[in-house]
Amino acid sequence: MHPGSLVTDATDRRLDTAAVHAGEDRPNPLRTIPPPLALASTFHFATLDEAIAVAEGRDGSAYYSRYGNPTVRAAEKKLAALDGADDALLFASGMAAFSTTMMALLSSGQHVVFGEDCYRPSRQVLQGTLARFGVTSTAVPVDDLDAIEAAIRPRETKVLFIETPSNPFNRVADLAALAALKKRHRGVKLVVDATFATPLNLRPLDHGADLVIHSATKYLGGHNDVLAGVVSGRAGMIEAIGELRSQLGPNADAHAAWLVLRGLKSFPARMRRHNANALAVARALEADPRVKRVWYAGLESHPDHARAAALLDGFGGVVAFEHTGDFEGTRRFCDALGIFQIAASLGGAESMVHPPAVFSWWDLPAEAREAAGISDALVRLAVGIEDADDLVADVLRGLDAIGPA
Ligand SMILES: *Cc1c(COP(=O)(O)O)cnc(C)c1O
Repeated sequence: MHPGSLVTDATDRRLDTAAVHAGEDRPNPLRTIPPPLALASTFHFATLDEAIAVAEGRDGSAYYSRYGNPTVRAAEKKLAALDGADDALLFASGMAAFSTTMMALLSSGQHVVFGEDCYRPSRQVLQGTLARFGVTSTAVPVDDLDAIEAAIRPRETKVLFIETPSNPFNRVADLAALAALKKRHRGVKLVVDATFATPLNLRPLDHGADLVIHSATKYLGGHNDVLAGVVSGRAGMIEAIGELRSQLGPNADAHAAWLVLRGLKSFPARMRRHNANALAVARALEADPRVKRVWYAGLESHPDHARAAALLDGFGGVVAFEHTGDFEGTRRFCDALGIFQIAASLGGAESMVHPPAVFSWWDLPAEAREAAGISDALVRLAVGIEDADDLVADVLRGLDAIGPA
């Protein structure tokens, strides 16, 4: 056995080694150290018999990239190893991964129970698009197990979908309880969007989830240069989702997959830094009189701190806080920052600031925002991998601009 194959084992838990080596052929045909970029929509055969072998499934070689591409496949194998899954599929975005997965799992007349504080486009897919095709859904608070139990309809409910930690409040779901609840209802699949956790901080498949979804646009890609998404899980389920992907075509292209592969090499190292920097920023915020409340699961003041400490290996890179000012204070805070850039995403090297009232909730009336806890004084920080002291100093400069408490 070639040593390279030792780290392609999906059960390998040494994430740093798997992130660098898993999924990559060694040696590859060009003997490049980085994985080769197969920038091709289609592939040729030397003889018709070779084509027939592929058509009959006796040879797994690529022949058309909507059905599979070697660079995409390398990224998928690496991601499967990181998630501790049999297999994974890469998509053109996190939303492509989510919507294709839901379409593969659900048919007209069936029902989804989902955590109410999920990513808004995910909610829109469930309540808007899938509703047009006869799939119904019920939003529930993730920490209310009785409400979830009551929302599950015998035979109709096929999916329990949650996001953990949640955006922007870092609420951490009780995965063991949700997995036990799911087990009592045969035919229900537990699907977890773990974008905020990443495989470094949480591996939901180890806690009873059936499928895990990530927006690889965030920490896994890690450089704010590529949109991608992934779903990981057991071979049979992944195969079914892959068949639908081959029909619909929401695939990641080879170039996007190559950027994901490159990002993944440094992902565990970067993620530890995000975890450490965010904790430092959260602590500095909590100690400041101009801050009313900090939502970071690594702080003892967070409602889910005990659960998060038991379940997670790190608390992630997103810190939300409410200051003592009004919306004008939020404006002054954001405009005063020198390192944090005003932007909508998270998970890249660069720190970003984002008032949820403006970015994700701008089209909702003020009352709806308040009901969801999205106040004018709420700020979300996506803490990057710069120097922690520099980031803390930047945040304190922003608080200075708000004015005294
Ligand atoms: C960004 C994000 C998504 C969507 O991913 P895209 O790659 O932007 O399509 C889904 N879930 C969460 C939690 C996200 O942060």
